[in-house]
Amino acid sequence: MEDSDPHEQQIRTAAASLVRRHQKQIQQVIREREIAQYQGEGVICPVCGSHFSEFAPVYQGRLPGDQAGNVRVLADHARCPNCQSQQRQRLLWLYLHKKLQLFDGQHKSVLEIAPELPFFRLFSQSDSIDYYPCDKFPQQLKYTDFPGDIVEADLCALPWPDSVFDMILCSHVLEHVTDDHQALRELYRVLKSTGLLLIQAPVSYDLESTLEDSGNSTPEQRETLYGQQDHYRRYGRDIEKRIQRAGFSADTFDCRKNYTPDEIILFGLDPWEKIYLCTK
Ligand SMILES: [Zn+2]
Repeated sequence: MEDSDPHEQQIRTAAASLVRRHQKQIQQVIREREIAQYQGEGVICPVCGSHFSEFAPVYQGRLPGDQAGNVRVLADHARCPNCQSQQRQRLLWLYLHKKLQLFDGQHKSVLEIAPELPFFRLFSQSDSIDYYPCDKFPQQLKYTDFPGDIVEADLCALPWPDSVFDMILCSHVLEHVTDDHQALRELYRVLKSTGLLLIQAPVSYDLESTLEDSGNSTPEQRETLYGQQDHYRRYGRDIEKRIQRAGFSADTFDCRKNYTPDEIILFGLDPWEKIYLCTK
């Protein structure tokens, strides 16, 4: 459909600008509406402890609830109406709290690539953790809600010396990086010999080998091939081999092996999600 009417274009531009300026207030109104809409006891969010009848959908495009915009549902029963955590974040949260002795009082240094709010809050508030959140584009709008600074850093050339971090979180980042081998080599370099790197990424387990971008594709082609315009590959079952090529030993924390079907529904997890546990 063509937007040939200049008057309509003007209205759309003005509306988009208005939404941007009042984004926080709009999000707060939507959040309050969703908390009321999903009132109930069917599920519990491990991150914020809230109970709901079910989890809300994850949208791509305009703000949730904006029926006039081009809203696409990426996943149903996936987002906490209160803290906005998603399936993969809740699995990582459970793993960090139930499976790791992360908060045993021993001093630890933690690097998070492209920080996410639940973990930013968790690590920032811990006295025993030296927390280093970093991103290639920390000035992005999504970080305006973060209660602290984000280090500007390129994952392919991290600004830290060798072997300094006890733990590194790298969740849903590698598919956005054009050279993920170089990124993995950098993660290997800055991790301590006793450290642990946690990787999450979208993986198509029906694919034997990762589909890699040639570098000449358009954003529209990448969306079709890899699921998003800013994704440069679709990982297949060889993801572990790719991680190992950087020198890591890789194990997995598999959602389906660690949680019952009832728990998966209760905590709003993706049964196919895995956390790759990488050690030197
Ligand atoms: Zn929550």
